[in-house]
Amino acid sequence: MDDAFKRRLILAMTETIVSHAEELTSLDQAIGDGDHGLNMKRGFEAVLADADNIAAKPLPDGLKAVGMALVMKVGGASGPLYGTLAMGLGKALPPDPTAAEAAAALGRAIDEVKARGKSDAGQKTMLDVLVPVQAAFATGGADLTDRLATVAREAADATVPMKAIRGRASFLGERSIGHMDPGARSASLLVQAVCNVFNEA
Ligand code: ADP
Ligand code: MG
Repeated sequence: MDDAFKRRLILAMTETIVSHAEELTSLDQAIGDGDHGLNMKRGFEAVLADADNIAAKPLPDGLKAVGMALVMKVGGASGPLYGTLAMGLGKALPPDPTAAEAAAALGRAIDEVKARGKSDAGQKTMLDVLVPVQAAFATGGADLTDRLATVAREAADATVPMKAIRGRASFLGERSIGHMDPGARSASLLVQAVCNVFNEA
């Protein structure tokens, strides 16, 4: 993975977060405090501002730098969790991973998010996207990037009927039902952006 490709990944993730910031905000207004769009935009703009430096690092170190920036800049509940995901990936990935190694590393990083959030799939959070995406990634097969993008989108949609058990939305109890989880939506946007960049390669 060369520097230009890493810069494209950072740009694609930032662009999708910036262009969907209002949507993420309104999802968070429905079942949270309405800051998720702004939180994520601030975090990814900070990553983009440091893109040349991050992309010049070996992949594991670059991911650790992304994670640090997200922890410091996103804030809220999602900043430490996305930061843990990126730093966990940085720790678990070899410098030039195969798809199988990347899937295994994503699994270990997701385990760290679960530990940090005291959470798991089924609780109406970003994990309801990350966990099925990782499972599909680990299964592999043809047209993987297209399939992962679809899994991510459908998994975010599937949080609509769920009742929130973790995070701010859990304060609403039954009233959290009927709305998509903002973190599940941002996770699906990020997965789709990464898949698009790999598709174009
Ligand atoms: P805050 O809830 O502090 O305002 P954000 O609005 O930025 O933070 O992020 C909210 C999102 O974070 C939720 O939609 C959910 O996906 C995710 N989230 C919150 N708490 C947890 C948790 N314990 N485990 C996993 N994800 C969580
Ligand atoms: Mg919020």
